[in-house]
Amino acid sequence: MKLFDSHCHLQDSRIAADAGNVVERALNKGVAGLLCCGSETSDWEDVLRLARRFTPIIPSFGIHPWYIHEVPPNWQEILKKYLLQIPSAVGEIGLDQKFTANPMDLQEYFLIEQLRMAEELQRPVSIHCVKAWHILTPILSDFKNAGIGIQLHSYNGGSEMVDKLVNLGCYFSFSGSLTRLKNKKAHSALRRIPPERLLLETDAPDIPPEINGKIDFSVPTEPAGLYYVIRFAADLLNMDIDDLADRVWQNSITFLGQIGKKIQPDIHFSSSDE
Ligand SMILES: [Zn+2]
Repeated sequence: MKLFDSHCHLQDSRIAADAGNVVERALNKGVAGLLCCGSETSDWEDVLRLARRFTPIIPSFGIHPWYIHEVPPNWQEILKKYLLQIPSAVGEIGLDQKFTANPMDLQEYFLIEQLRMAEELQRPVSIHCVKAWHILTPILSDFKNAGIGIQLHSYNGGSEMVDKLVNLGCYFSFSGSLTRLKNKKAHSALRRIPPERLLLETDAPDIPPEINGKIDFSVPTEPAGLYYVIRFAADLLNMDIDDLADRVWQNSITFLGQIGKKIQPDIHFSSSDE
């Protein structure tokens, strides 16, 4: 079984010092690729260093809506420099109306600027959205023909948003929150997602999975724990776990586009993608 963790933060201080062992444990559990997302200019160098050190790590650079008030004035220049240094994605970027007081107009500005850069450089994006779907969807409509993979990380928009977001070309990534038995909203959303748009993630070191009715918040989540997410998803979809893993791996490669070559060097792109 080959798994791809579509969204995690190995540069986070809770797991960074142990990164070698974290990656090894992930590989032992079949996690052959990870998208490691930066959240603010200050962690991008660590993300870059990890990606250079470990083959399975694909780096991603972005400014999270929680940290937009902390960025240096030349953040766009810095972001572009990182994106051009290494095949990489844009993210974690997004909108959040629950967990931050940062003004929505400023959040929108940062999101749109980063989406524009992703379009210009033809890079996939990883998007965080909490209680802001009505603002996100019109923005994504403007990027519908941008030709970039759009991942909705730890999808929490419910089943009623799915069709609209499918039409906008989005991929839906489910995290350990899916494994919470009480999270019926995520379970019904998962069932509605077209198989070719499904991704899985851990958001390590956050969002611990529920295992045998227990959620352990005392230890950091690791990409090795992606197994719990796929096992739960396979049960819910009544699918063979290996078939689901193949499907999600293929989706991950399609979502990543050119930057996926690091983990799947033999992938073929049509001449229009070159
Ligand atoms: Zn995250």
